[in-house]
Amino acid sequence: MASSLFANHISQRIIKISSPEYSKLFHYNILSLKSQTQISNHVFSEMKKLTIIGGGPAALILAAELDTTKYKVTLCERKKTMGRKFLVAGEGGLNLTYNSSIEELIKRYFPSDFMAPIIRQFTNKDLINWLNAHDIPTFIGSSNRVFPELDLKPIEVLNKILGFISGREIDFKLGTKWVGWDKEGQLSFEDIDAIDSDIVIFAMGGSSWKVTGSDGGWKKLFEERGVKVQPFRAANCAFEIDWDKDFIEKHEGKPLKNIALTYANHFSTGELVISKFGLEGNAIYALSQKIQDKLLTQESVVIHLDLKPTMSVEQLRAKYKNAGRAKVTDILKKDLNLDRTSIGLLKQFTAKATFSNPDLLMETIKSVPVTIKSAGGLDEAISSLGGIALEEVDENFQCKKIPNTYAIGEMLDWYAPTGGYLLQGCFSMGFVLAKYLNGLDE
Ligand SMILES: Cc1cc2nc3c(=O)[nH]c(=O)nc-3n(C[C@H](O)[C@H](O)[C@H](O)COP(=O)(O)OP(=O)(O)OC[C@H]3O[C@@H](n4cnc5c(N)ncnc54)[C@H](O)[C@@H]3O)c2cc1C
Repeated sequence: MASSLFANHISQRIIKISSPEYSKLFHYNILSLKSQTQISNHVFSEMKKLTIIGGGPAALILAAELDTTKYKVTLCERKKTMGRKFLVAGEGGLNLTYNSSIEELIKRYFPSDFMAPIIRQFTNKDLINWLNAHDIPTFIGSSNRVFPELDLKPIEVLNKILGFISGREIDFKLGTKWVGWDKEGQLSFEDIDAIDSDIVIFAMGGSSWKVTGSDGGWKKLFEERGVKVQPFRAANCAFEIDWDKDFIEKHEGKPLKNIALTYANHFSTGELVISKFGLEGNAIYALSQKIQDKLLTQESVVIHLDLKPTMSVEQLRAKYKNAGRAKVTDILKKDLNLDRTSIGLLKQFTAKATFSNPDLLMETIKSVPVTIKSAGGLDEAISSLGGIALEEVDENFQCKKIPNTYAIGEMLDWYAPTGGYLLQGCFSMGFVLAKYLNGLDE
């Protein structure tokens, strides 16, 4: 991506902030408020009025990239501060994107044919360059996940982005909840008058972690306009397992590291964590959509865990044979290097007789059957499945049934596992839409 794409950022110093909360969070912007220059009305009268609803990552990059000499931009966020889910995402390590080839990256999105052109136009490398250009240095972790530099806290990352967009000619209306359309088709809000807009961009997120403001309350408003919205379900979420009392007492909170997981013909690797509720962690998040789909029609689903993915059954059998110890548990621990939690799990899901049949036991270590009873709650999930059906928008995210209206980010019905793919997807959509709108003819 050419660095000239960032050129339109320079020398735009006019701020209009509607909430006092904003000034508390970003005190350095208050200084520039004092030297605020009024935007002349005659310039505005020739410009198109563009309203963004929502203040998450998709909206923020859009606000950063829109041509404010062409559009009079207003951004409405229901919460008193923007980017609250972005901050929650930062609590477990802010995984901004994933370092891989574009082809590999695209494969992680569902449906990938919808996401492919979006990711190609604003790739993982482009996002890293964009962040770096906005004074957010990044590094690639050992797992190829991309994070902000270690000394940079998530709030500082957010503040750098907000600090940048607050210096642009944008009217921020914080604590401003959109509640639908009025009779004239204009945007209605809880506490302020309707906003008259030529173009509206919705970026109100999905429906997990409601406390952040993304509660999916917009679903019925779109459905009333005839827009098909797929039901929300938890994605990248925990799954319920019926643990033995003894097992969970000993192993709650313990990880199962470097395991592989198969469900039907789907495969993932990574880590799992044992919780009272069941299993969570990137290995199961990656298959959450597939498992959820099956749980729609079946009461339970069986997944298979490979506790030794780097060894074949034959290698395990050979190790077992040469172990020369009497107790099976000792062989599992000392010769096969299985930790106590893996052995406990193996015991819970394997018939006692299997432990006296080494050949069968080695096979089972490669494929422990674990029954999932249900998915965890939507509110605790990292992301949600569902949202505006993709056939409702065109290739530029424009709603086919509501004129001059666009939707981006997690509001749309796409899915990706954890690993930075979600933020990459949202940032890509915001950037690509800004580029499209900036290029529209008058
Ligand atoms: C615990 C957790 C950890 C995560 N970790 C990662 C990670 O490490 N890497 C990664 O890639 N992704 C991660 N994610 C996912 C990522 O945060 C989301 O995919 C991303 O924030 C979605 O961006 P968005 O712009 O679509 O919407 P959101 O970030 O959800 O923002 C939508 C905004 O719209 C506002 N809004 C909603 N309704 C209205 C209304 N009626 N009027 C006005 N405003 C409204 C909301 O208040 C909200 O601020 C994580 C998520 C969670 C919950």
